[in-house]
Amino acid sequence: MTAVGVHGFTVYDMIARGASVYGDAPAVIQGERQVSFRDFRRRVDTLAGGLLRLGIGQGDRICVLAQNDPAYLELYGACARQGIIAYPINWRLTAQEVERVVERAAPRMMVVDASTLPVVAGWPERKRAVAHWYQFGEPAGPGFTPFAALYTDAPEPAAVDVAPDAPFAVISTAAVDVVPRGAVLTHANVLTANLTLMACIGVTAADRYLLALPLFHVTALGNALAHMHAGGASVLVSRFDAEEAVRLIDRHRVTHVSDFPPVLSSLLDAAEKLGSGLPSLRHVSGLDAPPTIQRLHERTQARFWTGFGQSETSGFVTLQRVVDKPGAAGKPVPPCQVRLVDDYDREVPVGTLGEIVVRGPLVFQGYFGQPDVTAHTLRNGWHHTGDVGRFERSVRLRHPRRQVGRGHQGRGPAPGRRPVHRPAGGGLRGLEDRPLQATPRGRIRRRPPAHRGGRGGPRGRQDHVGPDGVAATRVEDEPMRIFNEQHEMFRQTLRSFVEKDVMPHVEEWEAAGRIPKSIWPRMGALGLLGVEYDEKYGGAGADIQTTMVLCEEMVRSRSGSLAMAVGVHTDMASPHLYWTGSEALKEKYLPAICRGEKLCAIAVTEPGGGSDVAAIRTRAVREGDHYVLNGSKMFITNGALADLYFVAARVERGEVLRRHEGISMFLVERETPGFAVGRTLDKMGMRASDTAELAFQDMRVPAENLLGREGVGFYEVMRVFQRERLVAGLHAVAMSSRALEDTLAYVRERQAFGGPLSDKQVVRHKLADLATRIEAGRALTYAALLRYQAGEEAVSEISMAKLFTAEMVQKVAYECVQLHGGYGYMREYAIERFARDARLLSIGGGTSEIMKEIIAKALLA
Ligand SMILES: Cc1cc2nc3c(=O)[nH]c(=O)nc-3n(C[C@H](O)[C@H](O)[C@H](O)COP(=O)(O)OP(=O)(O)OC[C@H]3O[C@@H](n4cnc5c(N)ncnc54)[C@H](O)[C@@H]3O)c2cc1C
Repeated sequence: MTAVGVHGFTVYDMIARGASVYGDAPAVIQGERQVSFRDFRRRVDTLAGGLLRLGIGQGDRICVLAQNDPAYLELYGACARQGIIAYPINWRLTAQEVERVVERAAPRMMVVDASTLPVVAGWPERKRAVAHWYQFGEPAGPGFTPFAALYTDAPEPAAVDVAPDAPFAVISTAAVDVVPRGAVLTHANVLTANLTLMACIGVTAADRYLLALPLFHVTALGNALAHMHAGGASVLVSRFDAEEAVRLIDRHRVTHVSDFPPVLSSLLDAAEKLGSGLPSLRHVSGLDAPPTIQRLHERTQARFWTGFGQSETSGFVTLQRVVDKPGAAGKPVPPCQVRLVDDYDREVPVGTLGEIVVRGPLVFQGYFGQPDVTAHTLRNGWHHTGDVGRFERSVRLRHPRRQVGRGHQGRGPAPGRRPVHRPAGGGLRGLEDRPLQATPRGRIRRRPPAHRGGRGGPRGRQDHVGPDGVAATRVEDEPMRIFNEQHEMFRQTLRSFVEKDVMPHVEEWEAAGRIPKSIWPRMGALGLLGVEYDEKYGGAGADIQTTMVLCEEMVRSRSGSLAMAVGVHTDMASPHLYWTGSEALKEKYLPAICRGEKLCAIAVTEPGGGSDVAAIRTRAVREGDHYVLNGSKMFITNGALADLYFVAARVERGEVLRRHEGISMFLVERETPGFAVGRTLDKMGMRASDTAELAFQDMRVPAENLLGREGVGFYEVMRVFQRERLVAGLHAVAMSSRALEDTLAYVRERQAFGGPLSDKQVVRHKLADLATRIEAGRALTYAALLRYQAGEEAVSEISMAKLFTAEMVQKVAYECVQLHGGYGYMREYAIERFARDARLLSIGGGTSEIMKEIIAKALLA
């Protein structure tokens, strides 16, 4: 893709022009410090001299793993000047992922800061191929030199001849791949993006941009440079904090903020708290839910801009103000052509789903170090985004992200909820009026598996596009026609939550043996807990497919522990309250459960036995308006941290032949006198999930906390077990898929006997075998789920799904570790954790032997 309209002009030329045109006006503001355009150029020149002295020059890479810092921007400038390629790294990646990025980038220099130092501790010693190790700020860690040392007065280095279509920066794509792909953006890409933003949004020298998103992100970098190009300033924040952001906006009269949920909602909350109307704000651009955008429009003078874009497209390639056509993504920006095509690259008609393809000077140069993937993505002269959309001229859709968070309550259907009939003109037209068909796998998978890598193509984005302010939506890969577009939107929300708030912490949680409780309110705020519960209790009133998406996406985090903890809270414990609790109890507890303020646990298993539920020995004796419970429980997930426990206890001894009778379920608050958490158990896998022993000694539980009728609790336990086993099936399938994805990526890269492992036929057949088993497990589980959802008898089918998937995941774990060779046995590889986590699935929630007993009983009945 060659440059148009920016002939001979580079990012450094833009900086030099800024110095002469805008001189002493501020270019970068941080706290009390202001760097003028003139000073910015001077600092860039000095830094360029420092890099030159180290022998770093044209075509070399510099990796940066740091939070926002003025020096970070200056480094971008110095790289531009010298023809060096800036290679920023997402600091949310794990150490292992960072390491792989660095291996691919093969930089001459690496720059970190105090916050990322622990990730790279010891690397200067170990990674000799990287010649220079620097750190923003002082003091520097062992093996690192303070970055400030590069700014020493020396004669300005000679100008380097950098072509506009030379690489400027490599930006990680939104997908967090096993090795995240790096989109190579040229000078021309970036400058065209600047001019586009200036033309479309109208950025001028009077504007000030809150540079709060991380500088490794195309949005942050693109907006900072666009404002610089226009003569405006960037107000730099090292890490987003809503209240600080409000103060900065007011103090520096910031006009433009970039948004990805929950930035805007937290900003508006903070503004409300601090009593600010954010009077200076004119533009907010990015992605968000309609209620949040509406709040912005109601409370401020700012306009929300949205569109479709990727790192590969240097930012947005369609753009519009939301007020102009709510729910749509706007028109293609002037320098770009956007089309929707079918599998054969033929344009599809309006209203039909097709892959979004883009052509023009905003399209990246390719993926760094991946010529085959690049050639495939840029085939036939178009960038194939891997995202699916639809042009619709007549239907005015609301922003499909409306289901994000709780703000949608009362305003539209909750995620995955069946369409509700609404009177015409009710404002919510589109999705209800024209329910979308989910698109089957294969039709929408534009990037063939060979190029998809660990986590697939660019995901986690909202994808709307259209030439006429029309709406388009991407539909996620999908093996069966089970999910509709709203489920897929919900999936996007989850995926972005998992990538940002979960994946970077998984290893830390595993080491700590627990998941911090702060994650629960966060999930509650995003509307992820209690999705099927009625809205009057704080739920989302959604369908079971929404729960399926929740289960699948939690597992994609590669934390079986989190998936299990969430599953227990939402689908194994709290259903006892929702299904059998009194109205008063539901009103009292469910809202806090949905908000994530009260964490739930289910306590059925006892030290004396788990499979034989009827053998429960914990006693509950009625005394006036209380039940007095004595006994103990074993292996209780969330046991150490929960606030509410759903406890099975025996109110009657039960006769030998009628042992199932006399069991009841009780809701027990953690603070109840006589309640104690015994040991927290040390486990083989699922190590971040806390599993505890509980003890009850003369624990007095109010009689109103009895769930359902006295003595029929066994049947309730069995009823909730059906759900638990379906969730276990989903977890097993999603864990297996994830492990297979990781393994596919690994065997493609791992070389043995002169070629990648993926070329060996034995390996290929093994992969094919695993994929087949996973799909079989998925089909069985989905089929059981549909039966269950339809209210049909499904105990056998559910048991079969649980049995098959629990055994299947063992096979997948074994083979995936095997395919990783020695690395598969190492703690630093996620596949090792997966193998330990997976082992639980044939034990917990009913062992495989018990599943066989249930199936056999039905067969022989
Ligand atoms: C990490 C973890 C988390 C857990 N979380 C919870 C929780 O949150 N809440 C909760 O209540 N429980 C929980 N459990 C308990 C779990 O459900 C039980 O471990 C499981 O049901 C098996 O019970 P058991 O351990 O007592 O094994 P047992 O019932 O003693 O079984 C031992 C073995 O004998 C086999 N067996 C038993 N009966 C038969 C039979 N009739 N025919 C053939 N084989 C048989 C079993 O299949 C198994 O292989 C958890 C367990 C673990 C390990």
